[in-house]
Amino acid sequence: MKINTYRTILEQMWQKDKKCFAPDAEFPPLCLRCGKPLNRRLVVNALSRYADVHICEDCGMDEALRDACGQVLPMWEWYALSCGRDMNLHSDGPALTTICGFSHIYDGPQKPFPLNHLEHPASELVYSRSDYDGWRWWTTWHHGSEEPTEPELSEEIDQFTEALLQLPEFKTLDTMNRFCRANAQPTSDRTEFNLYAATEHFYIWLRMITRARDYNLYCHFYLKEPADDVGQME
Ligand SMILES: [Zn+2]
Repeated sequence: MKINTYRTILEQMWQKDKKCFAPDAEFPPLCLRCGKPLNRRLVVNALSRYADVHICEDCGMDEALRDACGQVLPMWEWYALSCGRDMNLHSDGPALTTICGFSHIYDGPQKPFPLNHLEHPASELVYSRSDYDGWRWWTTWHHGSEEPTEPELSEEIDQFTEALLQLPEFKTLDTMNRFCRANAQPTSDRTEFNLYAATEHFYIWLRMITRARDYNLYCHFYLKEPADDVGQME
């Protein structure tokens, strides 16, 4: 499984755009960050600090200034993402987004997990809890029932988790922290962030916690209802 992020989607767009330069462009493509035309000389444009793409000179300057004061422009506000260009490019795998397309499950029936008195949505099959100890991730699994999970579903959960932790964004707690500041939904706690995804059978909620010596990542897997699948195909 390949998981897409705003970065990988922008990089796919740039792979197309950069073909206009040979090495100069007669009709330069638009800056993915602000929407103004890039300079027709590729080398005059700037390399983004957040994705392997070229952005215009002004955006290069703006990124540097914002980086210096910690005021990162969220990647979903980049022109190419906010205007919805080519969003179906990432159809080859789930995408991590700040938009929760399944908020209805939190208003529906709830259930307690074994050994845990907190209420979870009734469709929650399992969640993982991981911490980064300075060298690697350690993960424990918490199941919503004593029933064994169907092998097909277990495999999907394993593939998602493995692909997630292999993203360069999850290499260390520092890279995850930087990723959260530009890519994830902030919460009322400035060290906690949300992201959402969907796979064939699951809705997935990621809670990322950037504090050291704490649990740093929770992945909640909610089984989609058959009716939800129909909605997905529209
Ligand atoms: Zn720009």
